[in-house]
Amino acid sequence: MAWEFETDEEFQAELDWVEEFVTEEIEPLDFIVRNPYDVAEPIRAELLPPLQEKVRARGLWACHLGPELGGRGYGQVKLALMNEILGRARSAPTVFGCQAPDSGNSEILAHYGTPEQKERFLEPLLRNEIVSCYSMTEPQGGADPKVFTTTAVPDGDEWVINGEKWFSSNARYAEFLIVMVVTDPDNPPYQQQSMFLVPADTPGVEIVRNVGLGYEDPSDPDAGSHAYIRYTDVRVPAENLLGERGGGFVVAQTRLGGGRIHHAMRTSGRIRRIFDMMCERAISRTTQGELLSRKQMVQEMIADSWIEMEMFRLLVLRTAWRIDKYQDYKRVRADISAVKAAMPGVYRNVASRALQIHGSLGASWEMPFAREVIESFHMGLADGPTEVHKVQVARRVLDGYVPCDDLFPTRHLPRRQAEAEARFADVLERHLGTQ
Ligand SMILES: Cc1cc2nc3c(=O)[nH]c(=O)nc-3n(C[C@H](O)[C@H](O)[C@H](O)COP(=O)(O)OP(=O)(O)OC[C@H]3O[C@@H](n4cnc5c(N)ncnc54)[C@H](O)[C@@H]3O)c2cc1C
Repeated sequence: MAWEFETDEEFQAELDWVEEFVTEEIEPLDFIVRNPYDVAEPIRAELLPPLQEKVRARGLWACHLGPELGGRGYGQVKLALMNEILGRARSAPTVFGCQAPDSGNSEILAHYGTPEQKERFLEPLLRNEIVSCYSMTEPQGGADPKVFTTTAVPDGDEWVINGEKWFSSNARYAEFLIVMVVTDPDNPPYQQQSMFLVPADTPGVEIVRNVGLGYEDPSDPDAGSHAYIRYTDVRVPAENLLGERGGGFVVAQTRLGGGRIHHAMRTSGRIRRIFDMMCERAISRTTQGELLSRKQMVQEMIADSWIEMEMFRLLVLRTAWRIDKYQDYKRVRADISAVKAAMPGVYRNVASRALQIHGSLGASWEMPFAREVIESFHMGLADGPTEVHKVQVARRVLDGYVPCDDLFPTRHLPRRQAEAEARFADVLERHLGTQ
């Protein structure tokens, strides 16, 4: 029997260290470091590496990786508990060597990369000397990759890439891009595309513009890190193919399994922080002679937020536990999709209620709630929209059911009644004399 809701003492000591380190050392950086992905920016270059050294010295660098790549090989439950703390500070994942999309990109490089690709792209990425970009979504559609039209055509020992990509995060800071392109249009739909490693300085790679999220200032030249990219006659050597030709979808799936759980747990940590702010305000602010926390509608907002937050956290932890137990992502796909689908709603609800409870201050730029509300939409779009994940959940769940070939359902009450009466006919007869 083993249903545990506790962390063992030894790992709790690590979590306590992470908690203090994030609170004391990293959270203040979010006000100073413009963008943790901008490795060339001088303030970031001065402040982050010493903290990364401390994390390395503690043995907590890139814990999502196996020991062969310098990580601890922690299971997903431990990673989930750690990521929950890292989610509270924007720079924390970078300080701990597990920031998206580099973490997912390093996973696929480790899995599919050739020794040369690993040496050139993976090793400096793991050391966070460089950052990377995952360039898949296109302007005409992201949720349905079958509509992608960016192509790569072989030409001698090279491939020539042409097309446009949209919302390629961090492309402006990236040393290289992992680009999904159509190489085999005559294959079945899910075998038409391949992944390529494209150094960002390759001629023909052009950032048309950097797009920001709704809370960013479009007039700030440093804002906006989601690139609209044009690839015009971009030539890469044949050895820059990552994985099999036509195997782009397989590579993409490898990338998204663990990453979604880490995102979810980081989001769980963010939700907790917002919830704490909501509660502090409720017991501090007075209106009509009493604290907000005495108002029943405020109490309802707090109760609903707590219930949703705790349910979500348990779903994430259970999913992490199932990944560790089965070691088979296919078997937990519905769980991962459920987490992904639940995340934006809980995040948005709690952030919106926190904003509301803070009144005008909550709606202002002096509090983070407007940003958090938009970020909740980020969580409902990146790595696939909520609707697509709900479809996955429904499909997988329905796979476990068999149809009833009768006109009425198996549990139709008259049928159950008749079955029970037939089974206990002698008892009924003895007691009621009805048979
Ligand atoms: C902050 C952020 C960062 C991102 N980073 C990257 C990145 O680094 N690299 C990258 O390649 N992409 C990235 N994306 C893009 C992301 O993957 C896409 O936004 C996502 O796949 C949806 O594609 P789309 O935006 O084109 O929306 P569309 O495909 O146009 O879909 C629009 C809406 O239609 C609905 N919809 C779609 N499909 C279905 C369905 N099957 N059933 C019911 N309704 C449906 C949903 O409401 C969906 O939101 C990022 C997105 C965001 C918001």
